[in-house]
Amino acid sequence: MKKIDEIIYSRTEQFEKDIDKTLDAIKQYDRIVIFRHTKPDYDAIGSQLGLYYFLKENFKNKEIHFVGENHVSLTGRCFPEMEKIDDSFFDKPFLGIVLDCSTAERISDERYQKAEMLIKIDHHPNVDPYGDIRIVDTTMAAAGELLANILLSFDGDYVINKQSAENLYKAIVGDSGRFLYESTTVHTFRICEILLAKGIDLSQVYLEMYNKSLSDLEVQAYILRHYKVTEHGIAYYVLNDETLKRFNLPPERGKDNVNIFAHFDGIHAWLSVSEDKAKDEWRVSIRSEHESIQQIAEKYNGGGHDQASGAKLKSLDELDGLLKDLDDLFK
Ligand code: AMP
Repeated sequence: MKKIDEIIYSRTEQFEKDIDKTLDAIKQYDRIVIFRHTKPDYDAIGSQLGLYYFLKENFKNKEIHFVGENHVSLTGRCFPEMEKIDDSFFDKPFLGIVLDCSTAERISDERYQKAEMLIKIDHHPNVDPYGDIRIVDTTMAAAGELLANILLSFDGDYVINKQSAENLYKAIVGDSGRFLYESTTVHTFRICEILLAKGIDLSQVYLEMYNKSLSDLEVQAYILRHYKVTEHGIAYYVLNDETLKRFNLPPERGKDNVNIFAHFDGIHAWLSVSEDKAKDEWRVSIRSEHESIQQIAEKYNGGGHDQASGAKLKSLDELDGLLKDLDDLFK
């Protein structure tokens, strides 16, 4: 049997080389910008800040920034405001590091294009191999888990401080569905054990991640009155623009209650459908008990992971087709 640390440190030759190249690039550049995907989640921002605080701690003389749009509810509650960096900064050479973003098109802040060198670190399928260095591992539950492994593997006396550890932990808890998804492995727990030992305040972390307001209970009550289940166990709810406005919710938050259907006998997959009037589209978040729903999400303008994917519908007329495709999975 492998010793526990071999699980995190034993790696392919390619991985070792890419980690060395990544560390060399970090040492080489005095100016570093950390990017991630648009419509961020815990993993995107958690990884970004995990790396930010790591670099601030270990490379004190470098200028390091994190960019991208704020999140409607995570910013302020769980993460600080994103930085607003003037365009002029991007005119001089800098290293760009992109986290948790499978395609260049989804990178939040197109000024990544000005990076002299770009590094991709991700756990989604490598459908768009952008960047000069690419570290992609789809066996990781979260980009934060892969990133923590990379930081722990750097050759030298580097420290993951408490702030870095807290953000990496949020990334992992978020993208593993609080360790419930099948993507959770021995590696995930081993990394979390190491992060916890950095002094993370767990109750504070979970408070920041999951505390709700009483008005959220009204939204749940609405969903429980209006949800539907298809013949083969697909549960779903639809929040149109009018309903979202009634509850004072932006479209991004329509998916907040999607996991209300998890762990019920006979429900195999579940989804939220929320109207985004400004973009003239319907946002869909799909979750699954076992079967992969990723390919179906891709068919509907989306993608993601086996058990958690997102999609977009141009009109609600497409919903029946999506529900049928999902229903057919469980016939
Ligand atoms: P969501 O339902 O928005 O929470 O997304 C679930 C997972 O799918 C996350 O890992 C997202 O990054 C990913 N995802 C969502 N939408 C897309 C998309 N259009 N293309 C690729 N991945 C996506």
